[in-house]
Amino acid sequence: MSACLISGWSFSAPVLMTLLVGLGVALLARWLRHQQQFAGSSAFSLMHLAILWWLGVAALEMSVHQQSCKMFWAGMAWPAILGVPTFWSVFLWQYVNSVRSPLKPLAVTGLMVMPALFWLLALSNPWHFLFYGSASAPISSEPNAPIVYQHGPLFYLAAAYGYPFMIFCIGITLRAVALSSGLHRRHYLVFLILTTIPWAANISYVAFGWTLFGFDPTPFSFALTVAGFGWLISGLRLFDLLPVARHLLLDALMDPVLVIDPQRRVIEANPSALGMANLKKGWHGCALAQWPHIGSTLDGMVQQAELGDTPQLISVETRQQHFEVRVRAICRSTREGTVTLGQMLYLRDITEFQRSQQQLAEALALSEQQLATISSLHKTLQDQALRDPLTDLYNRRYLEEFFAREAARAQRDDAPIALAMVDLDHFKRLNDTHGHAVGDDALKAVAAFLLDGLRTTDAVFRIGGEEFLLILPSTQPAEALGKLAHLCERFADQPLETRAGLLHLTMSIGVVHFPSQASDLDGLMQQADRQLYLAKDCGRNRVMAMPGTVQATVSALPLPR
Ligand code: GH3
Ligand code: MG
Ligand code: MG
Repeated sequence: MSACLISGWSFSAPVLMTLLVGLGVALLARWLRHQQQFAGSSAFSLMHLAILWWLGVAALEMSVHQQSCKMFWAGMAWPAILGVPTFWSVFLWQYVNSVRSPLKPLAVTGLMVMPALFWLLALSNPWHFLFYGSASAPISSEPNAPIVYQHGPLFYLAAAYGYPFMIFCIGITLRAVALSSGLHRRHYLVFLILTTIPWAANISYVAFGWTLFGFDPTPFSFALTVAGFGWLISGLRLFDLLPVARHLLLDALMDPVLVIDPQRRVIEANPSALGMANLKKGWHGCALAQWPHIGSTLDGMVQQAELGDTPQLISVETRQQHFEVRVRAICRSTREGTVTLGQMLYLRDITEFQRSQQQLAEALALSEQQLATISSLHKTLQDQALRDPLTDLYNRRYLEEFFAREAARAQRDDAPIALAMVDLDHFKRLNDTHGHAVGDDALKAVAAFLLDGLRTTDAVFRIGGEEFLLILPSTQPAEALGKLAHLCERFADQPLETRAGLLHLTMSIGVVHFPSQASDLDGLMQQADRQLYLAKDCGRNRVMAMPGTVQATVSALPLPR
């Protein structure tokens, strides 16, 4: 190498051109370094480095005179010749997929193993001539004439190593073109053209021997390509705004998404948003307010000063749809501060959600209503269980509960309770004469009469066929006897309405007192029954109380008719 550095060399126009191109690439690399980091930027920088290397050794190859030195520098180009497509592929892959993490040193080393191997094989060419054949010779007898290389099998092997990368690069850009639309597609088409240029140049050189300054045109075309890429990536902010992976994601989203620029013009809309607006083309750059159905509402929302993260609800009247809208600013941080590039409007269709919520509320209301019906039915059933169906008076089942409560109150208040056992006189006779139905009518009329003649605090129970029990809380014996005697008297006087006409009946009553005459319900009922028997025995239509308590009053009662 040192021998080649000191051997004869000359500075020609092609060398100057090559150095100028190299300088351009170096300046471009420097400018890109100061730009915003973009996906795949580390691979892009490595690619610049490789192109610079390639151009550098190309300039040296052109400058030196000696054939062996020219061939040495040609060999020196190999790490770059294979490094460029390698990093080109990595860059495109990372860019298209928005991979922002820089390449790790280990990965770079791994990627450079094969180029380094071919590099060694190229440098060792003078010993095997398998890379460049021994027939490689200058094109003319001029001192600095370029070499026409006889390509050996190793050369073709190295070229073959590079071609899968080429196919990969073209494939990945073709895919990006196919999957994108509108402005993005145009940009990816330029990507594709820029990707194809160096490969076309390389194939022309390898297959047809086309040269530039008598030299492989590939590094020059790569320089042109990276310049184009640099401009596309850093010159056009749109690519920062929406890298393609996100773009693909937007396309896959079921919910409508719109991206607007600072002037509130729609620069991106995913298929769902377009479907909703029934738009196909011609919408790029249209004002948000003009967007069909929801544009003016959305525009109003975006104009609000504080959007924050709080979702807002809008309804699309024409389609009976409801959307939850989130507006997010798309920012880019630069050295000067944060620049707002635009805003993303994300609409979530909540029509189904709202519908099911409404259905749920309706179902809930219905079940509440049903619950109320059930509880009222339950209450009725409970009530019915405590009442006699014919007369609607309380039945025996409720008697115990009622008495227990009243007894406790009586003891607490020291107020006696009067219990009266009532039996209709000769009721069987009425049944026999007028029939059972008329008997039933009479029983109902009796119930009404009893309820009517008592206080609201008193209770009437039907405890047998034509037997009733009256409970008169807080009633002194004399008062009770007076009331009952009066009741008995009125009953005898008042005819009962039945389907057979007005009928007269009488009743006999046996009365006892709690707690003076018995301390429990059974005892009281037995005593009352006994008094009732006595009343029957004494001729009916009367009230009978236990001896010693109200005897005097008993004698004043009306005699049976
Ligand atoms: P006494 O004055 O001795 O009480 O004579 P009585 O005929 O009333 O005799 P008793 O108390 O033994 O007869 C009760 C009658 O009441 C017998 C039955 O025919 C009638 N009875 C019982 N339950 C019902 C009912 O629900 N409806 C009707 N219509 N009659 C009933
Ligand atoms: Mg009876
Ligand atoms: Mg009777």
